[in-house]
Amino acid sequence: METNASERLAALVRIPTVSAHIDTTGPAPFEKLIDALWVFYPVLHERLACERVTEAGLLYRWPGSDPELAREPVVLMAHFDVVPADEADPWTYPPFEGRIADGRVWGRGTLDDKGALVCICEAIESLLTSGFTPSRDIYLSFSGNEETYGDAARAIAATLRERGVTPHLVLDEGGAVVAAPLPWVKAPTAMVGVGEKGVMTVRLETTAAPGHASAPGKATAVARIGRAVARLTGPVFPARLPKTTATMLDTFAEHTTGAPGLMLKTLARFPALTAQIFGKLGGEAGATVRTTVAPTMIEGGTAANVLPSRASAVLNVRVAPGETTASVLARIARRIADRSVSVTMTEGTPASREAPTDCEQYRAIGRAVAAAYPGVKPAPYIMAAATDSRHFHTFTDWVYRFAPLAMDAAQLASVHGVDESVEISSLERGRVFYEHLVRGTTGGSGTTSRSGEEAGTTSRSGEGPGTTSRSGEGAGGSKMINPSKEA
Ligand SMILES: [Zn+2]
Repeated sequence: METNASERLAALVRIPTVSAHIDTTGPAPFEKLIDALWVFYPVLHERLACERVTEAGLLYRWPGSDPELAREPVVLMAHFDVVPADEADPWTYPPFEGRIADGRVWGRGTLDDKGALVCICEAIESLLTSGFTPSRDIYLSFSGNEETYGDAARAIAATLRERGVTPHLVLDEGGAVVAAPLPWVKAPTAMVGVGEKGVMTVRLETTAAPGHASAPGKATAVARIGRAVARLTGPVFPARLPKTTATMLDTFAEHTTGAPGLMLKTLARFPALTAQIFGKLGGEAGATVRTTVAPTMIEGGTAANVLPSRASAVLNVRVAPGETTASVLARIARRIADRSVSVTMTEGTPASREAPTDCEQYRAIGRAVAAAYPGVKPAPYIMAAATDSRHFHTFTDWVYRFAPLAMDAAQLASVHGVDESVEISSLERGRVFYEHLVRGTTGGSGTTSRSGEEAGTTSRSGEGPGTTSRSGEGAGGSKMINPSKEA
């Protein structure tokens, strides 16, 4: 039997839940991990109703004491699948060994996202043991196919929506506590993702009369596609500073002294100018202020001496908040300015809304950060990558993306890379964060052990038999863990 959070995390790391490999491994590693959670967190599993939503999704419900708040719960999210790790890469310790050394737990998933999952479970187990009863419902939403853009989180979000639930707060992975968020901002900061860019796959296609390559016409299909792609070189979309980014710069300015502090304050004050500057910088800075277009594939022709009747290209588009998939397609078509080239979306997720920072939910996150990491303040940002929480922003405004783990530059690079590892002290702080967040968003009155027993009874009997069974009620809609590639 494992004895503490780091050992429990190490044990979970040893179970290689690589969702990209499920076709070869089958669901066995995932079932093994779910079994381990039952062993590691007995009180949580006794007191919270757990249902399977699709094969890969776990949805736990901790009923709150206030029926008025039952439809406005807090949803804590994490995923228990991981990306592959190549044993041939120079890992200090093998990626699935789950080694504890140098004050850290090492291995694939320690930061992304088993670390946060363990912290959530530790916090809930501890709150339950202390007799705490939340005022509003708490849901835990764990998915086993986040890394393959799977359907578990989407199905969980749909389930809650169908039940008339509008979350008061959704917290998923995303940002972290980073030591120096910008080169001249040295204060450790809790980077909280308040929005994420959308992603679209756009197909360009054109046709032309086929014929012999010895007598070409004016523009062959290949030439037309080549010209269309060339017209998409350089910025296609206007630069616009998201409100969030201005707030972020302002937050950085507050704890940065001297010239850099003044510069940050100025950048925050003049968003239009800042958007132009970031846009000119290009690269990552440029990507924060506009929708980006990257041609990734091009195809056409069947033989060296035949005029192709058809040619196509594929664009990967990252959609900035404020833009819709329709407006993206329209602008790309205008820029190409060739009616013979069709512009269609083959798949896509719109950008999320920007969650507010001037609200009780964001302040509660800030207070929980301060409890776990004294002196550290939150700063909002827009994520470039997608998280499972994208399925929630269509029916609640308060979706935030932050895992309460400290990450230095090397650790940030180790996510999906080599030598992923989390400090043991981070795991403890992470538990403290989630405990404070739950207390701070669900009544804030602290321990109410008097009603604790009642809540436990309710949760055991409230949903009828089978709710704490792993095959749960949600199995009706279950499917195989399905690594669909939708984005
Ligand atoms: Zn992740």
